[in-house]
Amino acid sequence: MSLAKFLAWGFVALAGAASSAAADPTVAGFRAFLETVRPEAAADGVSDKTFNKATANLEPDFKLPDLELSSRPKVDNSGQAEFTKTAADYISKPYMEKMATQGRAFFAQHRAALKRIEAASGVDPYILVAIWGRETAYGVYALPHDAIRVLATLAYAGRRKNLFRAEFIAALKMLEVGVPRSDMKSSWAGAVGLTQFMPTEFFKHAADGDGDGKIDIWRSVPDALASAARQLEGKGWVRGAAWGYEVQLGPRSDCALEGPPDERPIADWVKRGFTRANGKPFTAEQATHRAYLMMPAGAYGPAFLAPENFKVIRLYNTSDLYALFVGHLADRIRGGGDFQTPWANFQQPRTQTVHDLQARLKALGYPMDKTDGKIGSNTRKQIGLYQRAAGLKVDCWPSEAVLAHANANAQR
Ligand code: CA
Repeated sequence: MSLAKFLAWGFVALAGAASSAAADPTVAGFRAFLETVRPEAAADGVSDKTFNKATANLEPDFKLPDLELSSRPKVDNSGQAEFTKTAADYISKPYMEKMATQGRAFFAQHRAALKRIEAASGVDPYILVAIWGRETAYGVYALPHDAIRVLATLAYAGRRKNLFRAEFIAALKMLEVGVPRSDMKSSWAGAVGLTQFMPTEFFKHAADGDGDGKIDIWRSVPDALASAARQLEGKGWVRGAAWGYEVQLGPRSDCALEGPPDERPIADWVKRGFTRANGKPFTAEQATHRAYLMMPAGAYGPAFLAPENFKVIRLYNTSDLYALFVGHLADRIRGGGDFQTPWANFQQPRTQTVHDLQARLKALGYPMDKTDGKIGSNTRKQIGLYQRAAGLKVDCWPSEAVLAHANANAQR
């Protein structure tokens, strides 16, 4: 090595150390990374033959979201529909009606298998069909990515490298046990199959739902749904319990009560004057379950009590709107209709406005764990608490007006 080359190498090494987690956005850096995975994969049962075949000509995809690269600004997942669409757009009535009609037909087609799956797992079969609908539009979505490429890239340069390193190795194991590469089509996060399984979950929960002795989460709907059922069961699904209830708030309650920290038995919500939006009473059994208030549009849409099973669906995809979509679609497939309280017609605030308001409230001492520009339940709650304390109208919704008020308050 020449001195100049050596110095350049040393400089690169130091720069690499200084920029810590950010990955070098080159194919060479990526290939060097792959070689660090090889022994770990081997220890997990991935043969050299499988490893070589899977990674020959494999190139990283630096256009994926959620990467940390040393020479490109950080891109986050703020483009995900769960965080950029309003609830009314995400759970749009015409789309839900279409999905429910299709879902009912598929439910009828697979009724026998769904009954078996329900008896074995205790999971609501309508929820399973709804997850299938949400994840791949009942198998219609053409998944755009190669899971091996996606997972290798996220393991190399993603924000959650360790998590995706384990997923990458599990995906290689799937090839090792005979899953064809052509079945490893995925979303940008590397999930595969009709109900979008991460590779580690595949090894934990994939099941044979149609009893033909094979597991095929790509072509067998009963296999995919039985696997999703085992996943939900593993995440703590409560047998026979609901995913959630649309409610009317009690007379002296507001949206600032939203969120898991204020979870309590449903009987307590009833004491505060909360009622089911459909007018039916809660049963004695339901009243013993704990639930928290969830209002995805603040005061501008329906309110829900979210019990344990809502949290379980949320573990599938960490978004209130995702869980609400799945729960509501399940109800519609079962024969239910629209929400009792409509979504008001409002605009989604700009991400920058949300971010600035989060940062301002945090500076004012409100427990705002994240300043990510996303309107999660804690953001809505803290806005509501600020509005209560300031004597403003409590709508728990970020706006330029609340931001201006908080800014003025901070300067006082
Ligand atoms: Ca099967």
